[in-house]
Amino acid sequence: MPQLIHRRLDTAPPLAVKGEGIWLTAADGHRVMDGSGGAAVACLGHAHPKVLAAMRAQMDQLCYAHTSLFSCESAERLAELLVGHAPGGLTHAYFVSSGSEGMEAALKMARQYFVEAGQPQRTRFIARRQSYHGNTLGALAAGGNMMRRAIYEPVLSEAFSHVSPCYPYRGRAEGESDEDYVERLAAELEAEFQRLGPANVAAFCAETVVGATLGCATAVPGYFRRVREICDRHGALLILDEVMSGMGRCGTTHAWEAEGIAPDIQVVAKGLGGGYQPIGGILVSGRVIAALRDGSGGFMHGHTYQAHPMACAAALAVQGVIAEENLLENVRARGAELEAALTERLGNHAHVGEIRGRGLFWAVELVADRATKAVFDPALKLHARVGQEAYARGLACYPMGGTIDGRQGDHVVLAPPYNVTREEVAMIADRFGAAVEAAI
Ligand code: PLP
Repeated sequence: MPQLIHRRLDTAPPLAVKGEGIWLTAADGHRVMDGSGGAAVACLGHAHPKVLAAMRAQMDQLCYAHTSLFSCESAERLAELLVGHAPGGLTHAYFVSSGSEGMEAALKMARQYFVEAGQPQRTRFIARRQSYHGNTLGALAAGGNMMRRAIYEPVLSEAFSHVSPCYPYRGRAEGESDEDYVERLAAELEAEFQRLGPANVAAFCAETVVGATLGCATAVPGYFRRVREICDRHGALLILDEVMSGMGRCGTTHAWEAEGIAPDIQVVAKGLGGGYQPIGGILVSGRVIAALRDGSGGFMHGHTYQAHPMACAAALAVQGVIAEENLLENVRARGAELEAALTERLGNHAHVGEIRGRGLFWAVELVADRATKAVFDPALKLHARVGQEAYARGLACYPMGGTIDGRQGDHVVLAPPYNVTREEVAMIADRFGAAVEAAI
């Protein structure tokens, strides 16, 4: 019986003993392609020599210094790299150790902003159903994944309410145009603002591209422009959670670039450090920082490991490699090939409901019936079976049972490293197609 607490208490997963490029090796010698970078984390694959060298250099120099007394060069340089050119008006960065901590920081920053700005009554947050913002209590309260919330419901903050996500595969009515769908979702959001009292709402929170709970669900064109307009009209902030979809994963540095808007606060994590070190953070607009600066003079928050020198050095190196090797171009080119290969292999499969995504962020939603979009019996845990079949064929993917109308659905995410090759994309699609065929 394992003593380490794993995802399941009765069994331990295989021991990973080596990572190199796209390959992971288990203790029994089994080699798998890391086709999803864990949960869309390992954006440069494993053991990238430039990242390792930067980490070693940082380690020789400084591993830790507490932020109550010191800053460090790697954190300062990482902030400069991310917001020095003020993308979308985001001018400041704050680094923590995970996506959940990033979400907590975003929520608290929004709250403090309104206190400093003389609107302390803004205590409500609107988020979306079928979303995931992390596992800490604040982030979990923001999230709209009912299965993850279930047993914690009595201890979750009531400051959060939820509206429908933009999920055209199931949310759009038969024959409804993009424009009409956007207007329907906008009307629902507007109604929620009115129900809460628009002057009481601090922020609307959404994943720009929904990762874990819906499987790479991109919004229809115009959706985020309407969301931005509603937030602005009511003086609320827009918090975009790009923990999974950001930092290049969708083919642009920030996923919001493709939506023609920018958030007031953005949460980043996975692709920031590529898994080389635990790091997340928030990017914050100048106007939010200005209110804090004019008010109490500081962010009423903090973690022991915030802006950690090693984590920031690793992230700096990861971002440096992405820029030097022009990897966003590779994300777009290989992403198009992955989409084409998945479509060719699985597009006509009787149980593939939709293949969707952007950049190198793709998911396949599995359904019992393509015509009715009925989900499989949750007891089958079909997504997990696909994961097992893929593993047996030498591919690691990210199977998820997102909630659909309160029930479990099945989708599997593929998120290869940004430096994946054309040949590797073909191998991933081939192994994944075989796994789906074997599982159903
Ligand atoms: N937000 C999103 C969109 C995520 O996908 C995740 C993790 O999967 C989180 C937040 C939480 O990040 P972490 O697991 O690093 O706490």
